[in-house]
Amino acid sequence: MHTPPSTPIADRIRTLLAGLVGFDTVSDRSNLALIAYIEDYLAAFGITARRVVDATGQKASLWVTIGPLERGGLVLSGHTDVVPVAGQTWTHDPFKLVERDGRLYGRGTTDMKGFVAVCLAMVPEMREAKLKTPIHLAISYDEEIGCVGVRPMLREVAGKPVKPLGCFVGEPTEMQVIIGHKGKHGVRATFRGLARHSSIAPDGVNAIEYAAELITEIRRRAVALAAAGSQDSLYDVPHTTLLTSIVHGGAALNIVPDHCTVEFECRGIGITESRQVTDAIIAWARAEIEPAMKKQHSDCGITFEEILDYPALDTQADQAIVTLAKQLAGRNEHAKVAFGTEAGLFVSMAGVPSVVIGPGAIAQAHTPDEFVEMSELLKCAGFVERLIAKCAEGVA
Ligand SMILES: [Zn+2]
Repeated sequence: MHTPPSTPIADRIRTLLAGLVGFDTVSDRSNLALIAYIEDYLAAFGITARRVVDATGQKASLWVTIGPLERGGLVLSGHTDVVPVAGQTWTHDPFKLVERDGRLYGRGTTDMKGFVAVCLAMVPEMREAKLKTPIHLAISYDEEIGCVGVRPMLREVAGKPVKPLGCFVGEPTEMQVIIGHKGKHGVRATFRGLARHSSIAPDGVNAIEYAAELITEIRRRAVALAAAGSQDSLYDVPHTTLLTSIVHGGAALNIVPDHCTVEFECRGIGITESRQVTDAIIAWARAEIEPAMKKQHSDCGITFEEILDYPALDTQADQAIVTLAKQLAGRNEHAKVAFGTEAGLFVSMAGVPSVVIGPGAIAQAHTPDEFVEMSELLKCAGFVERLIAKCAEGVA
């Protein structure tokens, strides 16, 4: 696995990506074998990584610093987990890298083991460059289930005496500089009613009918946000969105349903908008729906649980990290994307200015026969090469 720096970069990337794709790191499995593989690779260059293990002991992230520890550095950040392949039709084993016509196929090639492979492939150059500004690698897990796994590592970063100057999150953007994405807050509402024979329906408390009041209100607010809420034309859908995604309830036609769950999400434009919107809905339901349920029977009511929550990214176009990303990418323009990333957490939890920029297209992420073009990975390697040159000079 230890490839000397003289090996062409494309070969190094290919070897590392084949190694990474070979580990089945679907979010519900352990990623420790993959983490050990990266640690072994780094050890060959005399680099030790800080392992941050989760509560189960089955998953870990890595924080790696190359260059002086006492200076603020720049972070290259990627997650190691991938979405499931169950129910998808693949033309080959999704956990075996296959190359055809300049495309590298396999689960996670685009999202986002390709980026991680490029960063690792450039480690020999990082080592040789005598960096004045350090480069950090932040390698996480459990991103696909709501940007969960990066948080313990970010709590450590937040406590460091010297903070990183900025972070590049390498999610697939076809190497476009992305300065914003929406935040997301997901909530599950569980309605507790009272079951009765349907012939005496008025004696029961109908959980589904009360849930319907919530669903209708969510819809009403979604329409209002689209018409009169905050707008940002850099997004394809330029406003905050809100919807009910899942409803479960009822057991039989002749039973008043005593149980109904409703899951809804908000994707908000501003840093905290998604949570504000869902909090307001919860407060409304507590004031407008729950008292009527309790009046019918004191045991009835609604329980709300958070399913997931990550903040929006809202980096300003004139921030230094944006200028640097554009310089390194050789681009003048920036954009915003619909999908969420860990970048908002780097900003909100650790105060590290962040942009999203990485190889491959989001259109290929999560799909059967996921692939990344080798040309995209080489573009990304060029970006990292210019980052190394910049850090060798020193970034203020
Ligand atoms: Zn991803």
